[in-house]
Amino acid sequence: MEIKKKHREIENKRTLETGKILGVCEVCGVLIGIGDEQADARHLVGKQHLGYEQIRNKLRELREGAENRKEMRKRYRERQQAREQREQEDEAERDKDREVRRKERSREDDGKRKEKETQKNQRSVT
Ligand SMILES: [Zn+2]
Repeated sequence: MEIKKKHREIENKRTLETGKILGVCEVCGVLIGIGDEQADARHLVGKQHLGYEQIRNKLRELREGAENRKEMRKRYRERQQAREQREQEDEAERDKDREVRRKERSREDDGKRKEKETQKNQRSVT
């Protein structure tokens, strides 16, 4: 709030010099007489004041736009990360299923092999 302090200094200095109570306009930075309604009304429709007002409004608009875009990018990144995590989990689940099926097949094969061996052994005995 260094600027506010500077404002106050300028206001005090000029007030002492002119004998009028002065204030710095928050929009355009010009020193204006406080309590002088006519001067105040003229100031508010002056070119400098209106120009600064337009600049400040545009600046606010641009900042809000930038803020919104930042927010949108953040949400997009979060959704993408969630999707990637889901895909990884799905992949891990599929790997597990494949492993289970592989073991089942391997057990079945063992069973068939043993069966064949027993048949062979029985034939050689008879
Ligand atoms: Zn002004």
